[in-house]
Amino acid sequence: MRQLYRIKRVPSDSGLRKFLDRINPIHLRSAFLELFRMLQRNGVLKRYWWEDKHDLVSIDGTEVFSSNRLHCEHCCQKQHENGAITYYHQAVGAAVVHPDRSTVIPLAPEPISKQLIGSEADPEVGPEDEELTDFPCRYTDRYRWENRNKWLINDCESRAIRRLVTRLHREHPRLKIVVLADGLHSNAPFIKLLKRYRMSFIIVARPSNHEHLFELFVKADETGESQQFPLKSGQIAIV
Ligand SMILES: [Zn+2]
Repeated sequence: MRQLYRIKRVPSDSGLRKFLDRINPIHLRSAFLELFRMLQRNGVLKRYWWEDKHDLVSIDGTEVFSSNRLHCEHCCQKQHENGAITYYHQAVGAAVVHPDRSTVIPLAPEPISKQLIGSEADPEVGPEDEELTDFPCRYTDRYRWENRNKWLINDCESRAIRRLVTRLHREHPRLKIVVLADGLHSNAPFIKLLKRYRMSFIIVARPSNHEHLFELFVKADETGESQQFPLKSGQIAIV
C-alpha cells in the first residue's frame, strides 16, 4: 500500500477489516471486471485458453468468518441442538485457470450472507425466483417469510454459485466457459442452469451420491458407448 498508493500510515489488519466491513461487495465487482477486460484486450486471456478456445473457470466455496459471539445483520446462522448459534460468512470464489499455469485470473467472488430474495434486494436472482426457492439449501426453511414474494434466507453455496454463473453469463456472454466444480454441485438444477447458459462443465460425481448415473455409465461402458482418454498422470479417464 505504501508503494502503490503512497499511504504513509498503513492501518493494521483489524483496522482495515473494520473499514472494509462497511463496503457492500457489489461495489468491488466493477474493479474485477475492469481488470478482466484489460487482460482480455492485452491478449493475456488467450494464454489460458484450453481446447478450442475454452476458458476453464474453477469455482469453489470458502469460509471467511465464523464466530459464536460476534455477528452482524448479514451473518448466516447455524443453530446447534444445545441452543448455541454459530454466525458465519462464506463466499464462492471463481478463477480462470489453466493446467499448465501456476497463476490464476480471479473473478469477482459471490458473498454468501443472509439476504432477501425475490425482491429488489437481490436483482441478480433473475426471472427464475420460483425455481430458486426450491433450490437445495440445508438451512433455508427456518428463514422463510410468510409473504411468498419475499424470503429472508440463510444463503448457501448452492444459491451463491447459481448467482455467480448467472452474473458470469451476463458479463461475459461470448466466452466459451467450462465450469469446474466439486461434488456439491453435481445436481440437476445446477447442470440445467449451465446448459441454459451454454456453459460446459466438469463436475465431481461420486458413486455413493449418484447411483443412477453410475448405473447408466456401467451400462454405456458395457455396450461400448463410452470413450477412453489418457490423462497426464498416466491414468485413463472413461467418459
Ligand atoms: Zn456478519
